[in-house]
Amino acid sequence: MNQGILILHPEKIDSHPDLQQVTQLLLQEGLIGSAIDNMQNSYSAGETFLQLITFMGCSPHIRFEPEDEQDKGYCFITLAACENLQIRLSEHARPPRCCACKKPVGKEWQTAVSQGELITCPHCHQQQRPDQLNWRNDSGMGYFFIEINNIFPGEAQPVPRLLQQLQSIDASQWRYFYLHSLG
Ligand SMILES: [Zn+2]
Repeated sequence: MNQGILILHPEKIDSHPDLQQVTQLLLQEGLIGSAIDNMQNSYSAGETFLQLITFMGCSPHIRFEPEDEQDKGYCFITLAACENLQIRLSEHARPPRCCACKKPVGKEWQTAVSQGELITCPHCHQQQRPDQLNWRNDSGMGYFFIEINNIFPGEAQPVPRLLQQLQSIDASQWRYFYLHSLG
């Protein structure tokens, strides 16, 4: 079981940062270390991981090594460059908020997004693109994700410098959220 995933991704939804460039940057910065065998684009935590990802608690229960070959319950990092637009939602995720009236958009937002349509706010009827929505910290969408596995929601967050470094690659601001309640 995965305790949760801290996900970093470009705010601009159609942004396609170069996988090699992001990998190089994260290696240089020390967020990621050695590649994990038999897991595509997955890495163990690098030597400066704990300087780039800040934990709230005083003694985080974080494990950086697997206990055995099947173990996926430790902290590792996967870079996901997707061919299709992905919506990543936590179980029981709350809908994003309208950019105009700040009220939650209706349940239909997911259908509209998957059909490439604008989202119409049920409260004020403002039409907006998905990247204009005010996303909450339990969901996000895009083509590219840095997934930091086995982080409890809210337990840790990236330092602003890391997000700025990532922004230097694709000129889009980056945000983060938590995927939780995974099987
Ligand atoms: Zn509205």
